[in-house]
Amino acid sequence: SRPVVAIVGRPNVGKSLLFNKLAGERISIVKDTPGVTRDRIYADVEWLNHDFILIDTGGIEPDSKDIILSQMREQAQIAIDTADVIIFMVNVRDGLVDSDSKVADMLRRSKKPVVLVVNKVDDFDKYMPDVYEFYNLGIGDPLPISAAGKLGIGDMLDKVVEHF
Ligand code: GDP
Ligand code: MG
Repeated sequence: SRPVVAIVGRPNVGKSLLFNKLAGERISIVKDTPGVTRDRIYADVEWLNHDFILIDTGGIEPDSKDIILSQMREQAQIAIDTADVIIFMVNVRDGLVDSDSKVADMLRRSKKPVVLVVNKVDDFDKYMPDVYEFYNLGIGDPLPISAAGKLGIGDMLDKVVEHF
């Protein structure tokens, strides 16, 4: 069966934008609760003859800090339990924050393959110096991407499919 790849990370790093770019035209909006519209969270993606299922996590972003943290933990755990490869997204604009480290700890303990991506690197010359900080997460080489500018996405997918 097709491998499952999950995108995890704290709110606002750009998970859903990356998901939507990869899902492309086939993305659809579904309503799973009356009165609530949310993006579909599963998509079929193909890269270099590899087919896989991509999962977005996060859904509706909660507004309380406590809920954000518990939801992040829960989503990281779901990703760990269901995914074959995890895309762990952080954000160069905010730098390395405490909740990134907490998610990294869970992922490291899981021993699942993780591809660490640093999003919002829209300008490589400008932001590359800030990417190196994420080596401190101890979870591998940080890969710069821009979901908005579609930069680094091919390199990221190459890394992902290496783990299938
Ligand atoms: P999520 O909460 O992790 O799913 O994040 P979203 O995908 O909802 O994105 C949060 C915000 O960051 C939105 O305003 C996006 O447009 C913005 N964003 C996402 N990716 C990029 C990027 O590569 N560059 C820039 N400049 N903004 C981005
Ligand atoms: Mg989202």
